[in-house]
Amino acid sequence: MRLLNSMMAALAVCVALPTAALAQSPPHQPEDTTAINEKQSVTAQKFMVTSAHPLATQAGYDVLAAGGSAADAAVAVQVMLGLVEPQSSGLGGGAFLLYFDKESGELTTYDAREKAPMAADGAYFLDENGEPVDFIEAVIGGRSAGVPGTPKLLEKLHADHGTTDWATLLQPAIEAAEEGFEVSQRMADAVADTEGLDRFVEAAEYFLPNGEPIGQGTLLKNPDYAETLRLFAKEGSAPFYTGEIAQDIVAALQTNINPGMLTMEDFAAYEVAMRDPVCTDYRGFEVCGMGPPSSGALTVGQILNLLEPFDLGEMGDGVEARHLFTQASRLAFADRGLYMADSDFVDMPQGLLDEGYLLERSKLINPDADMGVAEAGTPPWDEAMRLSPDTDRPKHGTSHFVIVDSAGDMISATTTIESGFGNRVMTRGFLLNNELTDFSFTPEAEGAPVANRVEPGKRPRSSMAPTFVLDDGAPVLLTGSPGGANIIDYTALSIIAMLDWDMDPQDAIDLPHVTNLNGGTRVEEGEGAQEMSDGLIALGHEVTVANLNSGLHVIQITENGLIGAADKRREGVAMGD
Ligand code: GLU
Repeated sequence: MRLLNSMMAALAVCVALPTAALAQSPPHQPEDTTAINEKQSVTAQKFMVTSAHPLATQAGYDVLAAGGSAADAAVAVQVMLGLVEPQSSGLGGGAFLLYFDKESGELTTYDAREKAPMAADGAYFLDENGEPVDFIEAVIGGRSAGVPGTPKLLEKLHADHGTTDWATLLQPAIEAAEEGFEVSQRMADAVADTEGLDRFVEAAEYFLPNGEPIGQGTLLKNPDYAETLRLFAKEGSAPFYTGEIAQDIVAALQTNINPGMLTMEDFAAYEVAMRDPVCTDYRGFEVCGMGPPSSGALTVGQILNLLEPFDLGEMGDGVEARHLFTQASRLAFADRGLYMADSDFVDMPQGLLDEGYLLERSKLINPDADMGVAEAGTPPWDEAMRLSPDTDRPKHGTSHFVIVDSAGDMISATTTIESGFGNRVMTRGFLLNNELTDFSFTPEAEGAPVANRVEPGKRPRSSMAPTFVLDDGAPVLLTGSPGGANIIDYTALSIIAMLDWDMDPQDAIDLPHVTNLNGGTRVEEGEGAQEMSDGLIALGHEVTVANLNSGLHVIQITENGLIGAADKRREGVAMGD
């Protein structure tokens, strides 16, 4: 047990911390956000929350400290994120959430992915000449929005596992929206960098007051959001699906450019789907995550399986290991592009995680040379059909959080409005998603359909990969990240770092990224990038040095307590007690 070694190492680190650091943690004080480069793993005995913003972590921490459940804390975290990190997630978007129930030992997944309008078809993102429309033009405006899943998710999660009064959970976000919150550096930078916010009145007034991007440190109030949350507190999710908020969303999506097609019927028909987790074995642990419509667990699972024949532990981190990682990722992304989509609509091979298939496929990995663009394999499949592959683009929205409560119930959730600021259309104090641009714009190629094509009522394929690692049925790690399709590589690397390289959560998160989505290899800019690039180029890689902006939030569960950490590339913190 490597993990055991890792726990001991991590605890040794905690014990070795100077007294001042120990006094600070637990609980970690979120006010300390200027010291972003000094983040370190936080330890706790009873409960913990790690999210992308100090105020969201604080909201979750307060709920847990008052004896609330993980489900309660998730509600408080999400409604606060929707206010203070509005570019990434919110009531106008969707999410995938893994829930572990300590008493039954059961892991379930909530699929609150957005759905396409019933009136949509394969030509949804084609122009009058049958050509795919320009990506950014497709993002902006009402057409790219699917029916949001997040309001129903929060209500259902609370109904299933909540113990704290519903309205109480929304109160801190209501107060922060009324009294104002300080605009963070990241939010200010995101506003300044984002195209299209000026095209819609509500978003322009809120994010570009007097025509200028809102600055860091501004005290920003959102009375419309406070009012929305009050209604949510009083009437639950009904106003979002059959009432006045749904009506406002449908109306707001009738934009001049790219008007939406969603109707009140689409909203009324929306349900959160409960699905079994998708699990695979890795080094004696069970790695479980979100199945279709996400490609997250299948692709992370393939990468890990493809790497299992290689002794990464012995090898340690370096060019050799990262080369192997990129090759496994190439192979996994090839299968993802061809086969993975919303399985309620598309038959998928049942053998995508078949051990024999992946063992055979791992033989395609040459430790001494980049394989170039990988072709999809032929996994075991009862109903083989001819498909055409889909491609991907990296994104910058989305947020990930993890929670452990004092009863031992746990959550790993990735939540999104897709691109930063979604489709830029705002109503009732929140932004609407552009999740439908996660579909393939091309419905077919060379006479064969693309699995991830637009279809009425379908959910677009996701890369989101909220993950649990279990040892003998008991969770030992919670992980996940934003980052578009890079999410898959970020999440897989965090698992390898902790299981193969005995790293604690902060060291695992801090590792520089190297990704390959079956195209060129990207090496994260910063210290060591040159050396890594040179090493990979020598093996035949085409390398781009890039800003690989993960937002990994991780909790490790050990016999001696909880160890949590937040990604230094973003603004979040871990807090526990
Ligand atoms: N919409 C993306 C997905 O579901 C996530 C976007 C992001 O991480 O920025 O895969």
